Formats: sequence, structure tokens, C-alpha cells
Amino acid sequence: MEIAIVGAGIGGLTLALALQRAGIAVRIYEAVPEMRPLGVGINILPHASHELALLGLEPALSRVCVLAREAAFFNRFGQLIHREPLGRDAGYADPQYSIHRGALHRVLHDAVVERLGADRVLAGRTCIGFEQDAAGVVAHFRDTRTGERHAGPRADALVACDGLHSVIRKALHPNEGAPLYSGVNMWRGVSVWPPILTGASMIRAGWLATGKMVIYPILDHVDDDGQQLVNWVAEVETPRHRQRDWTRAGALDDFIAAFDEWHFDWLDVPAMIRAADTILEFPMVDQDPLPFWTQGRVTLLGDAAHPMYPRGSNGAGQAILDARALCDALAATGSVTAALRAYEAKRLPATAAVVRMNRSNPPDAILREVYERTGDKPFTRIEDVITRDELFAISERYRLATGNASPTRSV
Ligand SMILES: Cc1cc2nc3c(=O)[nH]c(=O)nc-3n(C[C@H](O)[C@H](O)[C@H](O)COP(=O)(O)OP(=O)(O)OC[C@H]3O[C@@H](n4cnc5c(N)ncnc54)[C@H](O)[C@@H]3O)c2cc1C
Repeated sequence: MEIAIVGAGIGGLTLALALQRAGIAVRIYEAVPEMRPLGVGINILPHASHELALLGLEPALSRVCVLAREAAFFNRFGQLIHREPLGRDAGYADPQYSIHRGALHRVLHDAVVERLGADRVLAGRTCIGFEQDAAGVVAHFRDTRTGERHAGPRADALVACDGLHSVIRKALHPNEGAPLYSGVNMWRGVSVWPPILTGASMIRAGWLATGKMVIYPILDHVDDDGQQLVNWVAEVETPRHRQRDWTRAGALDDFIAAFDEWHFDWLDVPAMIRAADTILEFPMVDQDPLPFWTQGRVTLLGDAAHPMYPRGSNGAGQAILDARALCDALAATGSVTAALRAYEAKRLPATAAVVRMNRSNPPDAILREVYERTGDKPFTRIEDVITRDELFAISERYRLATGNASPTRSV
């Protein structure tokens, strides 16, 4: 059996490693001619880091990340609403990685090249379509540099891991509409900054209507003063947004006013934002869950299958869980088409639930509750606004819906 993977991003590379481990041959085709460490911060929750550990990646990842220890929620006045442990501190067997996407990508890419051989990763090949029959599937490519067109070798299955702008998703669902804008635009950056709170805290503060921040460190000791690389995301409700593009530059003046007064005793937020070298802009968009992912020998995985709001640290994680499920299905049966159908039956409903949960009740629903109950005013005692049980229930509801239920369930 040979599997063709289109897209050497987080999902495609993880799938390649899992299939190689299962003894299944793979070729990966990537549009970008050279691997570059793109993006900013990303979190891998325990359900997905478990899969990466099974692939032997924990030592390499642990060297280039921060192991998240707690989630901390504040209102826009800097008042603490809630803290709860994360990763191993919460009793999971596996950690929560807070990591630069480029670092995660490099660890996966290096492992693929080392284990499968560089000749199995074909860079500079932009997939433009495919054709299939009873005997196999052939993907068509345009050389990203020369524009020359050619067909790949026949494979038993083609897995589209080509991300948000998937051409294969478009081929399977030509009449799907445009991405759905949530009404929230995001600006993202990384700043070199002293450790905040525990130095391994994932902070969410404020609320979307007036401006919300997500802040977490992704690398320790980046200089002799013990500073960290700190990832931040500013999220603001606004009708103004542009098309989704992971590398689109953003402008400070478009959002800084929402955070100008955020000088807390635990962090000077505007100063930290201003310390970033570059700012990226991205609209919070998703797409409705699809009716199907699989057509014969072709299926979708990761963002190509289920683009979601980045509100619960589940984008990369769900791609990793897809990879495991698809690998298991292929290893379990001699029929490729039956395996792709079994994979879809398992993962389409599971990821559709995450897409919907990210719309309605992601972890930051805690912030919405407090914003609404206080009328966006400072509180005297948080216990008078919301109980600890309610707070844990919101978090646990999200974890349950996304397949990451906590080992010490409190509700
Ligand atoms: C440049 C970039 C920066 C990102 N930055 C962040 C970030 O900062 N924070 C965050 O949370 N998420 C980021 N993401 C998205 C994140 O990686 C995904 O949401 C998640 O990991 C799911 O991974 P995926 O494999 O489905 O998609 P991705 O990781 O996006 O990978 C898709 C891959 O497919 C390739 N590709 C696309 N079209 C074709 C084609 N036609 N033919 C061949 N190859 C193709 C792309 O070049 C890419 O390598 C970024 C993605 C990219 C591509």
C-alpha cells in the first residue's frame, strides 16, 4: 500500500510519521519549495501530545517549548477570575506544549526526513487536482517554481492535508460558500518579555466586545536575563477584516486602543504588545462541518477537513488526532476505501462537535460569563459573581466535547 499526502504541515507530517511506524509507504507533496519556520504560538493539549509521544517526539519537543502549567482568567481590569492547572499539573499523563508553530513544524519535518528519507518529501509541488479509478489515484501538480505541470505516481489513497485553502476540499465540495466570519478580528505577535505569573501560565483576559487577550510563553531563556518568548493574540469585535492568510502583516494602530489602559500589577499589556517585532493579522473564521470528507480513495484531514475558530487550542491537536485515526483504519483493513470511510465515520462527527463548541462555548466562555454578569464592571469578590464549580464546569464541558476530559474530573 502507498499513500500520497498533499501538504507537509502539522497534520500531513504527523500522518507520515504514524504511517511509517505502521509500515505503510508514504510520499508527501508540499507546495512551498523550502521549509521555513512560519507562524507564531500554538498549543498542543494532552490528548494530542499523547500521540506525538507515541511517535517518539517528546524529547525533541520538550527542548523547544514551554510546558504549560496553568490557565488563568482575568477581566479587563486585571482582576483574577479563575486559575486551574493544565497538562501534567492537572494530572494528565502527557504535557500541554506551548510552542512556536515553526518549532513544532521543524521537529515533525526533521523526524520525517530522518525516518522516511528526504526523497519521500517532495517540496515545491502544488497540487492542482486528482483523478481516481478502481485501481488507484493520481494527483496532479504544478511545480511551484517553474510552473511546469506533471502527474504524481499512482497511489492507493490520497490524503488532503493542504490546510485552510485546500484545493482537494474545493474539488469535493465545489459549491461550498466562503469562510464564515465570526465578527472578531485577531492580531498576533511574539515579544521577548520577563516571565509572567508562573512563567508557564496561559492567560486569557477581557472579552471580545471590548478587547480580549490570550498570552502564553512559548520558549524559555531567550537571553541572559532569563526572558521568554511570549506569544500574544489580541481579539477584537469589528466588522473590518481581510481574507485569511497566515502570513498577513497587521498594524498596531488598528487594535492597540482597546488595550491602552491595561497596566496591571502582574503585566503591562500595551508595553508587551509594543515589544513585538512583527504583528500578524488573521480573521476569526470557520466553515460549517461538511457532509462528507471521503470520495473513493481520497479523503481530507486537519484544517482541510474542519477549519475551526482558534479558540480552544484544538486546531493542530485535532489534525494530530485525525492522523492517528486514519493510520489505525488503514492498518486494520486491506481495503483502502473501507478504511477511509471508517476514518471519516469516526472523525467527522467528533471534529464537527469541536467546530460547534468553538463557536458557542470555548474555554473563554468563562470571560463572557463574568463580562455579562458584572455588566463589564470591576467586581469586589469573584465568588459573588460566579462559583468555582461553575467555572470548572465550563472548562470541563469544553474538554469533554473535544476529547480531552481531565483525568481528575471535578464535575
Ligand atoms: C504558514 C502557516 C502559519 C501558521 N501559523 C499558525 C499560528 O501561528 N498559529 C496557529 O494556531 N496556527 C497556525 N497555522 C495553522 C496550523 O498549522 C493549523 O491550523 C493546524 O496545525 C492544522 O494543520 P494542517 O496540517 O491541517 O494545516 P497546515 O499546518 O496549515 O498545513 C497545510 C500545508 O499544506 C500546504 N499546502 C497548501 N496547499 C497546498 C497544495 N495545493 N499542494 C501542496 N501543499 C499545499 C501548505 O503549504 C502547508 O504546509 C499556520 C499554518 C501555516 C500554513
